[in-house]
Amino acid sequence: MPKVLFRGARLVDPASGRDAVTDVLVEDGTIAGMGEVTASRGTTVIECDGLVLAPGLVDLHVHLREPGREDKETVETGSRAAALGGFTALVAMANTDPVADSLSVVQEVRRLAQRAGLCDVHPAATITKGMAGESLTEIGELAGSGVRMFSDDGKCVQRARLLRMAMEYAKAFDAVIAEHCEEESLAEGGQMHEGYHSSVLGLPGVPSAAEEVVVARDLMLARLTGGRLHLCHLSSAGSVELVRRAKVEGMSVTAEVTPHHLALTDEDLTGYDTNLKVNPPIRSAEDRDALRAGLADGTIDAVATDHAPHAVEDKEQEFDQAPPGTIGLETALAVVLTDLVGPGVLTLERAVEALSTGPARILGAADHGGPVEAGRPAHLVAFDPEAEWVVEPPFASRSRNSAFLGRTLRGRVIHTMYRGDLVVHEGKAQR
Ligand SMILES: [Zn+2]
Repeated sequence: MPKVLFRGARLVDPASGRDAVTDVLVEDGTIAGMGEVTASRGTTVIECDGLVLAPGLVDLHVHLREPGREDKETVETGSRAAALGGFTALVAMANTDPVADSLSVVQEVRRLAQRAGLCDVHPAATITKGMAGESLTEIGELAGSGVRMFSDDGKCVQRARLLRMAMEYAKAFDAVIAEHCEEESLAEGGQMHEGYHSSVLGLPGVPSAAEEVVVARDLMLARLTGGRLHLCHLSSAGSVELVRRAKVEGMSVTAEVTPHHLALTDEDLTGYDTNLKVNPPIRSAEDRDALRAGLADGTIDAVATDHAPHAVEDKEQEFDQAPPGTIGLETALAVVLTDLVGPGVLTLERAVEALSTGPARILGAADHGGPVEAGRPAHLVAFDPEAEWVVEPPFASRSRNSAFLGRTLRGRVIHTMYRGDLVVHEGKAQR
């Protein structure tokens, strides 16, 4: 493996608190030197004037669709989209077909990810068998094989007793229970956030309470069991407040928010654009502002994409027929830079923390998230914080249902290094 020298980058590394211009030398997949480094013969020198260098990004919430819906995405195409977005590790959600409720599916996803070799893929396993919400998967066996996150994401575990048992088992193996918070009877039939704009558009709504009642219940179960609870894609101001209070109490709860919930509001659905139909729905401006504040003050630990690829013909149906979801891997960093760092909602350091250091810690992915120091594995992203680009196909993702189509974003990934290998160079995937 050739030596690579990132020369003159602004290193933003929340784990060490460093924010300074430095060279970073990578040798044999490991960071070998920092400060002012002289390039020896045979070293690939990457001039990083004006670029920010950060630990590779980590996404806790990705739907890779394989096995089962390879027409929408595969482990390989999703991994490539991740690399182009600056991610070096991700969690593959378990609601595939068949669902990842057994070792064989988990191992198949791992095998496909290794063959792609573009980023670390951590398959989540389901909490319940078949995601049917009735009996638990073999949490011990799956955790023993390295599964760190259990989730029925796409669905919420409706029965509190079952979730309590899951938290108790997961606790014994130091695994995380990641909940998609949605009380089904309240959400049923809903197409968008329930509020002023849903009445104007004449679409049935999903009240914020559909999420909040489950957040509240799950926090109580986490308190009861002492288990580790992670709350997926929070969407409402009330949820943020519940988590804030739980953290004050010292509970071991973490939470994530998506770029689309941070950037958009229900008013944006006026054009009935099915790419903006997501679950949980994009909510009001007050909710968006509360999510931003919660991310800034650490109530919310991570930005996660909920990358959810869908076929064109699925999204081109009537609004009420279209499946929910937006792709997000290739736009996440740029949306955060454009909508949050640009206007001063987040510092650049906090943005990197929420996209890398925080999620790496939740996942227990010690190789990722920094600190960027000699001797550490070289998972890095270099991005141009000023580069402007328009979100449009082609994408590396096999799908193109982006909620940000047509938008001009500021901030672009230039290089991604995974295990010392430049998998993205000059903005292009290298394989
Ligand atoms: Zn979900």
